[in-house]
Amino acid sequence: MSMAARFSDNHSIDQRLAAYHNLHWRIRQPQSKDRMMIDLRSDTVTKPSPRMYEAMATAEVGDDVYGDDPTIIELEETVADMLGFEAGMYVTSGTQSNFTAVLTHCGRGEEYIIGEGYHIYKAEAVGTAALGGIIPQTVPVLDDGSVDLAVVESRIKSDDMHFPRTKLICFENTHNGKSLPPEYMAEATGLAKKHGLASHLDGARLMNAAVANQCSPKDLTRGFDTVSLCLSKGLGAPVGSVLVGTADFIKEARRARKMLGGGMRQAGILAACGLVAVREQVDSLAEDHKLAARLASELAQIPEITTEPQGANTNMVFIQVDGAQRDGLQAHMLSKGIKIGGRPPTFRLVVHRDIKEADIATTVGAMAEYFRDPA
Ligand SMILES: *Cc1c(COP(=O)(O)O)cnc(C)c1O
Repeated sequence: MSMAARFSDNHSIDQRLAAYHNLHWRIRQPQSKDRMMIDLRSDTVTKPSPRMYEAMATAEVGDDVYGDDPTIIELEETVADMLGFEAGMYVTSGTQSNFTAVLTHCGRGEEYIIGEGYHIYKAEAVGTAALGGIIPQTVPVLDDGSVDLAVVESRIKSDDMHFPRTKLICFENTHNGKSLPPEYMAEATGLAKKHGLASHLDGARLMNAAVANQCSPKDLTRGFDTVSLCLSKGLGAPVGSVLVGTADFIKEARRARKMLGGGMRQAGILAACGLVAVREQVDSLAEDHKLAARLASELAQIPEITTEPQGANTNMVFIQVDGAQRDGLQAHMLSKGIKIGGRPPTFRLVVHRDIKEADIATTVGAMAEYFRDPA
């Protein structure tokens, strides 16, 4: 029987589950050498957990463009509820989530204010401007990952026909692994409200911020008009983000998503993993943070390594080495089965679900070895 037939919607959940168990032994086998690697480049590299494979195999699906996919609807409602919003929309990526949000908040020739290192400006090929005609007004990002709200306020344009109209302020939590506390988030949304502006939170790693602050995610999202959450970072889902806001906003955002080619059909098969991610894989972020802290403190013992002074407090560690040794170190690590990345002059090491305690010692050992005996 073909795979397509086995997983067809005409089969019962039991039949789908049975088919899954048939395949299970194959899914659990190492599929390539990649499985043996310690991959610290990002938390996006996580592979679906066994619970996710099971959820995919048993997911009830429908055509989501018609609003027919029960698993997507359940995911959207679950995330909206977790973050304290009326409605949610499942999207292909964090980039699409942020882009649909900005497109819905702003029109052509209008502007949003944003930290100059924040993802929407710096790491999404500035689609908002290139494709949306919406202008980013950047402000510096401070060492703790925040933006100075007085500086933001000073960039809000007055009503003058020469100026772009300021419509929106975009924030980010976490930024470069640094989590911002509920008090700051409240001041940020307060500033937007004071000026009648909308506020959007790029909370790609919002759950890491909530775990680091030991607070509810709602304590970080309260007062925002929209929030974007990535399922495919530390939460471990293979694909997708959820944008949340009011029901009216999300209805309008669905039009922007369609325009961007983001209307997916039986994507409940992917949303099923998102449900496992938000229901079962949030708590283990604390373990990632613990291991990242240990990695940072052990690497700080190696004299040739500089760890960032005001370090990240979630799942990321940033280090620098002498520029002449950078390529050599990266190649040495790879030869030991350890992938590291990040933009020069910095290496960014990201801890995630697929990094185990022993991998930390292996990584520190391999780095120490390189500096004892550089190639
Ligand atoms: C990863 C990330 C995104 C975008 O996610 P993609 O799914 O890769 O498009 C947005 N914002 C932040 C802060 C991120 O880290």
